[in-house]
Amino acid sequence: MIDKELLKNGASSLGIDLSEEQLEQFDIYAENLVYWNERINLTAITDPEGIVKKHFIDSLALLKYCDIKSGAKMIDVGTGAGFPGLVIKIARPDVEITLMDSTQKKLSVIEDILGKLELDANIIHARAEEAGHDENLRESFDFATARAVSNLRDLTEYCLPFVTIGGSFISLKGADAKEEAKTAEHAIEVLGGKIANFDEYELDGCGERAIIKISKVSKTPANYPRPKGKMQKQPL
Ligand code: SAM
Repeated sequence: MIDKELLKNGASSLGIDLSEEQLEQFDIYAENLVYWNERINLTAITDPEGIVKKHFIDSLALLKYCDIKSGAKMIDVGTGAGFPGLVIKIARPDVEITLMDSTQKKLSVIEDILGKLELDANIIHARAEEAGHDENLRESFDFATARAVSNLRDLTEYCLPFVTIGGSFISLKGADAKEEAKTAEHAIEVLGGKIANFDEYELDGCGERAIIKISKVSKTPANYPRPKGKMQKQPL
């Protein structure tokens, strides 16, 4: 269904070499994304070129800007139809991926696609602000990531509690990233983080993107993350 050359070249420009088998997995992923999207609302992007650029290459960019060690543990918060987490899993099967979402229907789709791709990932149906207090999950990942879930300030409260000290929260953002980062400054500090990298790039004719890497430098205070209502009433 997808133009594999377009994907191969896009990945290659990020320094990622995709094998024939991985390209085939991406093709199966795209096909199933479109199939499921006719039944459940997963994405507005359903044309093959859009899927390759705005979902696959956009997600793969994380690997260009962040050094993910072999065997690292990563959680994708609000993964939806698997972006960026499932894309990372295909490109880097050595990474131990956890895919979290508050919507079970979307996770059922992910499970179906993982089965077709013969890949393993941990699936967690939960709200991040609750799961962040689960001692089995809190401060137990090398990396947390998220795309298109919330503004950076709230997202840092959702994601940084999952990250171990020395690890990072990697946020995939669009054109307003600089402003978001400014608004999130205080939250990042309170939650035990520090902006380590801020990389902006142009996604092959699809507009500005940014990848913000927030290092976890100290423990997140126990009272965070707060319930969503409290986050909204008293933003950090
Ligand atoms: N990350 C995917 C992407 O980039 O295409 C999905 C983005 S979609 C706009 C936001 C997703 O985050 C939805 O699947 C929603 O169910 C999930 N979500 C929103 N708030 C959440 C929360 N507090 N905890 C866990 N998942 C959440």
